[in-house]
Amino acid sequence: MKKLLFFVSWIISLSTSAQWSNSQESKVQFVLSQMTIEEKVGQMTQINLDVICEGEIYKLVEPHHIDPDKLKEAIEKYHVGSILNCGGHAYPIAQWHEIILGIHQASLAYQQEHSYESKFVPVLYGIDAIHGANYIMGGTLFPQQLGQAATFNPALVQEAARITAYETRSAGIPWNFSPVLDVGRVPTWSRFFETYGEDPYLCSVLGKSCIKGYQGMFGNDNNGEIDEFHVAACMKHFLGYSGARTGKDRTPAYISDIQLKEIYRPSFQAAIDEGALTVMINSGEINGIPVHANPKILIELLRKEMGFQGMAVTDWEDVIKLVNIHHVAENLKDAVALAVNAGIDMCMVPNDYNFTNLLIELVKEGRVSEARLNESVYRILKLKVQLGLFDNPVPFVKNAYPEKMSNAFQQTAVKTAEESITLLENNKGKKGSLPLSNNINICVVGNASNQLIYQNGAWSRTWQGTDTTWNDASRLTVYEAVQNENKGETICLLSQWSEAAAKKAKRAVKKSDVILVCLGEKPSTEKPGDIDDLNWDKNERQTIKWALNTGKPVVLVLFENRPRLVNDWVGKCAAVVMAYQPGEWGNIALANILFGKTNPSGKLPFTYPRYNQTLLTYDHKHSEELDPNFGNKAYNPQWPFGHGLSYSDLSYQNLSILQVNTTAGNRKWSVSVEVKNNSERDAKETVLVYKHDRVASITPHVRKLIDFDKQSVKANSVTKYSFEIDETDLMFVGANGEMILEPGVWDIYVGNLSSTIEIKP
Ligand code: BGC
Repeated sequence: MKKLLFFVSWIISLSTSAQWSNSQESKVQFVLSQMTIEEKVGQMTQINLDVICEGEIYKLVEPHHIDPDKLKEAIEKYHVGSILNCGGHAYPIAQWHEIILGIHQASLAYQQEHSYESKFVPVLYGIDAIHGANYIMGGTLFPQQLGQAATFNPALVQEAARITAYETRSAGIPWNFSPVLDVGRVPTWSRFFETYGEDPYLCSVLGKSCIKGYQGMFGNDNNGEIDEFHVAACMKHFLGYSGARTGKDRTPAYISDIQLKEIYRPSFQAAIDEGALTVMINSGEINGIPVHANPKILIELLRKEMGFQGMAVTDWEDVIKLVNIHHVAENLKDAVALAVNAGIDMCMVPNDYNFTNLLIELVKEGRVSEARLNESVYRILKLKVQLGLFDNPVPFVKNAYPEKMSNAFQQTAVKTAEESITLLENNKGKKGSLPLSNNINICVVGNASNQLIYQNGAWSRTWQGTDTTWNDASRLTVYEAVQNENKGETICLLSQWSEAAAKKAKRAVKKSDVILVCLGEKPSTEKPGDIDDLNWDKNERQTIKWALNTGKPVVLVLFENRPRLVNDWVGKCAAVVMAYQPGEWGNIALANILFGKTNPSGKLPFTYPRYNQTLLTYDHKHSEELDPNFGNKAYNPQWPFGHGLSYSDLSYQNLSILQVNTTAGNRKWSVSVEVKNNSERDAKETVLVYKHDRVASITPHVRKLIDFDKQSVKANSVTKYSFEIDETDLMFVGANGEMILEPGVWDIYVGNLSSTIEIKP
């Protein structure tokens, strides 16, 4: 009876309070106190869906169904706390419901069999909804993160995340392994497209927006609850994953303390301050220590310095990799001890129960303390309470989620792609320059011209995104989207390069006014995406060369996982457009831009390299500009960070910087600048504000982004932008590892204008 009363009052408090309450805390403590070691270890175990399905791991029987015996074993014998992934491809929503309901019913049955109400612990399902609900058939796909970053529009990023959360939750899944908060410093990296680009500040601002959109809650209070329309975010991959020296996935990173603090930490800190509930650990090593085995990073830094209170999950098989890839543990048992004692809470095992069995042994032998388990299991149970899983584990049973996959959601995807697509070059006034008239003959060529996989990229219905059978035939390819808008003739040729097809195409192209060359990098991520050369593959090089040889004006459109070199062709093209991987709705957006229905406003969130060997970021050091002739021409990118043209003629004027008196005694400056639209076309413009420290005790960067704002600038009018610079914006990481402020002079760059700020000694 006492137990029952407790349960009832707990449910009442859940429905009336959005904050973590005493009764929720007692609930977690109570369940934890009842658990055996086996049950606790089970909570820390995360298995792959394949483990409980009919068939073999990675070779499931189609259509995928749960195998009741395997599920029973997972729940009753191993007490697993979490299940992840799909069995290799997306499912219709009804199939997700079958799976999620099946898992829930198995947990309930176990509870009832043992009349164990206090021990009913729901299973937490997790998925990679990376750019929309990509593992749900029909789920709205947005541009990949790199494209979203190019919008420089935090509100849009938040809305895309909110929609992703809504659709993911509609399938019954409450936990999303997103966003990637790794800063994209090495453009050769196979996961570059998964980042918000190269700048730590941009990654921090957009990461926060994304967390807000996913979790829908409470700023920096990570004690709140998440309603049935939102999901727990997972910031990943903590820390330094994107900094691998070779640019190849999961290879060693060598990162100084200053770089770690200045470049790799801020986006995670911002997400922690925003209340991100979970974190996934970097599979790689930093300075010789695999992060999964490094308590300095997982406990001292993440927990103590950065204040993260949520739950930390490993990445895929990363405890096993401590043995067979990193060679820091002789056997799996030692690896389990290393990782758990280093601070991981949940292990994405995910294909067997070795972790579970070995951890039980380790606790019994005293090599891992029960107190260490309690800490992790507390965090896992708390997360389950915050997600409402005890109270409302399968919300789709009552709620039909009527907005899922709606036209309104799809329109947001179009808008996000429109604001991301970046006009890199435009030979204004010349034949073939943009926008195109919609009454011309257009020849659309290239591997990405009539094939959706290049628009979608990896994490699109399948992990690598290359299997064309998962394309939705109702979504428009570039060719179809252009054809819809163009009243003249649109033909599609050479979507697969061959000498014979090229010969034939030459004749067909004669009547064309413009050739639209759509080059797509084969979708890929993680290890399968490692490359040796930033140059385009041979077929794509031949396609563009062929097009330029025809003598017709060429518009080049790029669909890329990372910047691929285009230096040989850019000067010969009428226009160059970066489409990133804009998702299924992206070609509508692209056509709107090509024909001028939409004025482009995307800006590069990274430095586009001109050469294979020169991969500098915009915030490089002065000495990195020195060239072999002792001039300062070594920094010569194809296009700089923040570059992006508009169809309007925009100019910057009246930059003003005024020191503001504050009562707190700290220094602040108010900055304003005007953007003038000297054209008949409405535009949107992102204004970027950079600082440059003229002299500092640690070599300063040539510039560093400190603020940005995107606004509309109406035709023939002026928009005023206002910013505030605080003295903390002028700080940097000093030799002692602390943030310091030194007196001196800073240049403040805004567009082509600049002014200075001075702090006297
Ligand atoms: C990736 C993670 C992903 C996880 C689960 C790993 O291989 O590195 O980003 O969340 O798999 O699918």
